[in-house]
Amino acid sequence: MIIPERYSRQALVSEIGEAGQKAIRQSRVVVIGLGALGSNIANILARAGVGSLCLVDRDFVDWTNLQRQGLYEEEDAANSLPKAVAAKNRLARINSEVDYEVIVDDVNSGNVEKIISGATVVLDGLDNFYTRALINEACVKMGIPWIYGGCIATYGSTATFVPGITPCFNCLFPGVSGHTSPFTCDTVGVLGPIAFMVAAWEASEALKILVGKQDQVSR
Ligand SMILES: [Zn+2]
Repeated sequence: MIIPERYSRQALVSEIGEAGQKAIRQSRVVVIGLGALGSNIANILARAGVGSLCLVDRDFVDWTNLQRQGLYEEEDAANSLPKAVAAKNRLARINSEVDYEVIVDDVNSGNVEKIISGATVVLDGLDNFYTRALINEACVKMGIPWIYGGCIATYGSTATFVPGITPCFNCLFPGVSGHTSPFTCDTVGVLGPIAFMVAAWEASEALKILVGKQDQVSR
C-alpha cells in the first residue's frame, strides 16, 4: 500500500510511520455523542484517515452549538439537522475516503454492544455518566479501548481506558453512573477553546491506540 499524499505529513511522524498509517486506515472508530467533544474529535480522526467512522448522536443541531461544535454550519442549525447527519455531510466533503456510518439514536443497554462491535476504539463525546457507565461495561466485556472526555465552563478532563492495561472507568469513578451534576453547559456555559483542547487530547490518545501503542496512553 502506498501512503496517499494527503497523509504524508502524518506518516512522516516517527511514532506513526507507514505501518501506523496503514493501521489507522484499517481501523473502525466509534464516536458517541457529536457535540462539543465528539464533533471536533470526528473532524480530527476523519482527516487522519481512519477506515470507518461511526457517528452516533440522537440530537439535532441548534444555534447554541455553533460556538464550539466545529463541524456544524448555520444551515444545519436553521434546518435542525440531526447532528450525526450534519457531521457526516461535512466530513464526507473533508475526507471522502472514510466509510461513514450514521446512527441517529441514543445509546442504551439494548444497542450499545451492537454499536461498538468491531471497534478499534470508542470515543466519548457524551454529557452524562449513565451512558458512559454503559459504554464502560460493554467495552470491558468486549475488550475494546475507550476514551472518556468532558468539558464545562473553563475546564475539562479525559481518561483513557484500555482493557487489560489500565483500570476501567468504574475503577476510577466507582458508582458514578447515577450521578447528575447541576452544572451543565446550559447553566454555566462552556468556553469554545476548552472543547477543542479536550477533543484534541482524546483524538491524540485514540491515534496512539490506532497505531498499536496502547502501552503509551496517558495513565
Ligand atoms: Zn474497573
